[in-house]
Amino acid sequence: MPTILITGANRGLGLEFVRQYAKDGWRVLATVRDPLSGRAASDSGAEVYVADITDEASIRRLKASLAGTAIDVLLNNAGIYGENQEFGGIDVEGFLRVVRTNTVAPLKMAEAFADQLCGPKIIAALSSKMGSMADNTSGGAYAYRASKAALNMVIKGLSVDLAASGVIALALSPGWVRTDMGGPTAPLDAQTAVAGMRSVIGGATLKDNGKFLHYDGTELPW
Ligand code: NDP
Repeated sequence: MPTILITGANRGLGLEFVRQYAKDGWRVLATVRDPLSGRAASDSGAEVYVADITDEASIRRLKASLAGTAIDVLLNNAGIYGENQEFGGIDVEGFLRVVRTNTVAPLKMAEAFADQLCGPKIIAALSSKMGSMADNTSGGAYAYRASKAALNMVIKGLSVDLAASGVIALALSPGWVRTDMGGPTAPLDAQTAVAGMRSVIGGATLKDNGKFLHYDGTELPW
C-alpha cells in the first residue's frame, strides 16, 4: 500500500487529497495544525498528526512520530495567502509569515523527510500560477506571489539536490479552486483540481523532475 504525507489536511485541497487517496487505498498520513480540526481527515481514513509547518520543533516531533515509515509521496499542501500585501501598504511581518509558510516550511519538510521517501519518491508542493513571472499581468499580492515564485525555486533546487536518490520534485498549480482561500466564485471545484493533480503526480517520471505543472498536466512558464 503506497503512503502519502499531506500537510494542511483539515480543509480545502488538503482534505480533498486525503479523501481521494484514502478512497484509492493509500495509507494517508495527514497533518493538521489544530488537533480539534482533524476529524474530517480521520473520518476519511487518514492517520492524523498535529504539525505547524512553520515551527521546526513541530516538524521534528512529526518526524519522530513517523520514524521508520516509508513514504512514497510528500505533498506540501499547506499554505496561506496573507493580508495587507498591496503596493503602498506592505506589512513586513505578514510578508515574512507568508514566505515562512509557503516557501521555507516545504523546504524544511523536504529536509526532514527526504530519507524516508521510497518507491516513486515524489516531493510535490502546491504552488500557484500567481507565482509565475509570465502570468503576473495584474500586480499586487506581493507576499503570496513572491512566496510561490520562491517555492518554485525551492522545488527546482530539490530536483537537483535529490536527483541522485531518485526523487522527483514537482511544483503543482491547482488552478483557481473554490476553497476558503480561493473563495466562492472560483471556477473549479476541489474534486476536479485534486483529481487532476493526482493524475499528474501518478504519471510523473524522471523527465518531469523540477517542472511546474498545472492540474491538467500542462507545463507552466516560470
Ligand atoms: P485553505 O486556506 O482552504 O487551506 C489551507 C490549509 O493550510 C489549511 O489546512 C491550514 O490549516 C493549512 N495551514 C496554513 N498554515 C499552516 C501552518 N503554519 N502549519 C500547518 N498547516 C497550515 O487553502 P487551499 O486548500 O485553497 O490551498 C491549499 C494550497 O493550494 C495552498 O498552498 C495554496 O496556496 C494553494 N493554491 C490554492 C489555490 C486556490 O484557488 N484555492 C490556487 C493556487 C494555489 P488551518 O485550518 O489550521 O489554518
